[in-house]
Amino acid sequence: MEHTSEQAGLRVDRRRGRMADEVYDTLLDQLMSLAIEPGSRVTIDALAREMRVSQTPIRDALNRMEADGLVIRIPHAGYRIPPQITRERFEDMVEIRLLLEPAAARRAAERATSSQVSHLRKLQEEMIALAQDEGHHPSYGAFGLRDAAFHDLVADAAGNQVVREALARLHTHVHLFRLLYHSEVTFLAMGEHADVLEAIAGRDPDAAAYAMRHHILLSRDRFRRLFDETVVETAEDDADEGLDDVPTLR
Ligand SMILES: [Zn+2]
Repeated sequence: MEHTSEQAGLRVDRRRGRMADEVYDTLLDQLMSLAIEPGSRVTIDALAREMRVSQTPIRDALNRMEADGLVIRIPHAGYRIPPQITRERFEDMVEIRLLLEPAAARRAAERATSSQVSHLRKLQEEMIALAQDEGHHPSYGAFGLRDAAFHDLVADAAGNQVVREALARLHTHVHLFRLLYHSEVTFLAMGEHADVLEAIAGRDPDAAAYAMRHHILLSRDRFRRLFDETVVETAEDDADEGLDDVPTLR
C-alpha cells in the first residue's frame, strides 16, 4: 500500500498501479495453480515476454510479491518461487490463526457494518457457485482467492488493522492451495463458513469465535491428512535446500 501524495505523479502511478495489480493477480494465480512450479526460477524478462507487457509492471508486481514472501529474490538471477510449505510451518501457521482469527470473528460480530455482512454473504454465494461447478482445477485459484477474501473481510470487520495485516502476511491460502492443487481432497467447507457468517450477521460474538475456531481446526485436520498421505516426499526433497529461507511466516 504505497500511496504517493504527489499530485503530479498521481495519475501515472495509479495507472501503472492498476497494471501492476493485474500482473500481480495473474502471477498469484499461476503460483497457486502451480503453473509456476514451487522451487522454480522466474525472470522479469521472461515473464514480460510471456505476459506481453513491459518489464515495469512485472518488476512492480515481483517487488510486492517479494515483500509478501511469495517469491525470493536472487541477486542478478531473477526470483525463486518458494518450495511447498512444510508440515512444521503449516502447524505454526495454524497456531497463529487459532490465536487471531476466532478473536477477530468475535470482534466482527460486534462491529461489522451491514455492508460488510452483505459482502461476506456475496463471497459465500460465489464460493457455493464455484463449488457446484464440479470443482475442477481451474476454479481452485478462484475459490482460494474468495476464501482468502472471506477471512480477510472478517478481520477487516473486526476493525483491527494490525491483526488484519498480520493474517494477510501469512498468505495462508496461497500455501494451502498450492498443496491442494494435485490432490483429490475435498476442501470445500461451505457449511463452516456459513456458521461464521450467520454468527456475525446474527451479532453473536461467542458463536462467531466458536465457528471460526471450529473451521480452522477442521481445516487443519483435512490438511494433516493430506500431509500424511502425500507431502512427505516433498518435504524431504526440499530438506537440503535451506528451508529456513522460506519466508512464509515472518
Ligand atoms: Zn475458510
